[in-house]
Amino acid sequence: MNPLAADREKAGGAERTSATLRVAIVGGGITGLSVAWYLEREAAASGVALRYTILERSPRWGGKIRTERIAGFGDEPFVIEAGPDSFLTQKPWALRLVREIGLADRILNTNDHLRRVFVLRRGKPVPLPDGVLLIVPTRILPFVLSPLLSPPAKLRMGLELFIPPRRDGEDETVADFVRRRLGAEALDRLAEPLMSGIYNAEAERQSLLATFPRFRALEEQFGSLIRGMLISRRAHRRRRSAASDGKTSAMFVSLRAGMYELVEALTDRLSGDLRLNAGVERIVRRRGGRYELLLDGEERLEADAVIITTPACAAADLLQDVAPLAVEGLRAIRYVSTGTISLAFRADEINHPLDGFGLVIPRSEGRRVNAITWTSTKFDHRAPEGYVLLRVFFGGSRRPEMMEKDDDELLSIVRSELSELMGLDTRPILHRIYRWRRANPQYDVGHLERVGAIEAALPSGVYVTGSAYRGVGLPDCVYQAQQTARRVLETIRPQAPAPIQVSTQDGG
Ligand SMILES: Cc1cc2nc3c(=O)[nH]c(=O)nc-3n(C[C@H](O)[C@H](O)[C@H](O)COP(=O)(O)OP(=O)(O)OC[C@H]3O[C@@H](n4cnc5c(N)ncnc54)[C@H](O)[C@@H]3O)c2cc1C
Repeated sequence: MNPLAADREKAGGAERTSATLRVAIVGGGITGLSVAWYLEREAAASGVALRYTILERSPRWGGKIRTERIAGFGDEPFVIEAGPDSFLTQKPWALRLVREIGLADRILNTNDHLRRVFVLRRGKPVPLPDGVLLIVPTRILPFVLSPLLSPPAKLRMGLELFIPPRRDGEDETVADFVRRRLGAEALDRLAEPLMSGIYNAEAERQSLLATFPRFRALEEQFGSLIRGMLISRRAHRRRRSAASDGKTSAMFVSLRAGMYELVEALTDRLSGDLRLNAGVERIVRRRGGRYELLLDGEERLEADAVIITTPACAAADLLQDVAPLAVEGLRAIRYVSTGTISLAFRADEINHPLDGFGLVIPRSEGRRVNAITWTSTKFDHRAPEGYVLLRVFFGGSRRPEMMEKDDDELLSIVRSELSELMGLDTRPILHRIYRWRRANPQYDVGHLERVGAIEAALPSGVYVTGSAYRGVGLPDCVYQAQQTARRVLETIRPQAPAPIQVSTQDGG
């Protein structure tokens, strides 16, 4: 029997024993769900009696992970992602989790034989030259022949090999870093749409060390990004072919029926107390070092440790009583709002080849949309036979006003942008709009120091973790979850329950 279930049986359902470690996890996005997964596994492995509760304010699990499947158009449904559509495999933690929970056979590679990204230049899509890795050219000929950058800009980028490295360990903006090493045009054409686009960030505020520490490491270690990338890439290829399982070959992968499969599999496998529609309002300290969580609707819950995986602003509200010194730092983590609109077309009605993964748009182009993914080229199983699916990104700091448009106006703007950018004048057969308000944390310069200060201001038994802090991508969230689960099990001991039972309903 699962040791957790055995413990629960021993404890007689809702009753507690003082030797049982009780943990409350606030937020049921990927971070909260993976914290629970690793707590269960590691507690079982180390013989710790554990009971945990995940409290999710909304009526659904997964937070930013949300997939809509729309059937009725043929052999397969449309698989439409509202949030993440894939995750990076180079950072191994999300991929490992997917395998641990039994989804190895569901992994869907991107169609890398069709991998090509276009960058808008003076209103026209231009392919990113082969061998350019985010911002670093690693192959000479395609780079020299590409019309994406002017000849002086290419020369300036080549000089990167001779620019002395910065080795003081200090943070700087992505904009300052790229201007310093590769020049202003590389910032405008490559770094801004690609490096800042991923984070929905502003290059002039975005922290290099919090978002692309590898570039600083390459600069420090090899004296040049170009040299460092060439050397480390060769080594990476060798490692990768040695470690390859023959199935997961792509840099980004998804799951066959969409990213929500991850959430479904996790919630199926977790054996703790999982509660939806359970928003936490406040956390207070009880005698004996325990915490009490005050839920919407008068309910209360006691725990030895509380792990908060909500956005930072929500964490600030919860921690006013128990960690007032952390609140200012939490509130200083800025968020922007973004949205996506997915549009489906009949394949025979469009005259665009969709010969790549999509189009990224530099801020300086002044468009009303930020990027377009050609979803059904990037992945199989996203549209039924005979149809195609696109996803358009809008909002963020570039165009915050786009978040306020109503559905009809938004659709009309997006259609006019598709017409101008891709010559696509066809009416979509369906579309779906998702607005994510205050959803994208901004890692401004100094972010890691701020996070360090927040963590130092938390009392024993209280943790904040997830996309607001040490990485927004799904692999980073899973990694942080695993680390947090370990820290809890290593440092927190169960406390005797408070003498007076105040909970109206406690545990499951
Ligand atoms: C449009 C979009 C596209 C993205 N694309 C990618 C991608 O392709 N690849 C990738 O790796 N990453 C991507 N990301 C980033 C990634 O999806 C997120 O960083 C990640 O899902 C965040 O997970 P989380 O669990 O930390 O936070 P969340 O998913 O935000 O979960 C936090 C949860 O806390 C709950 N909550 C808040 N307050 C309370 C409270 N008081 N009490 C109880 N519960 C509360 C919320 O309801 C929410 O469910 C994307 C994000 C967006 C918005």
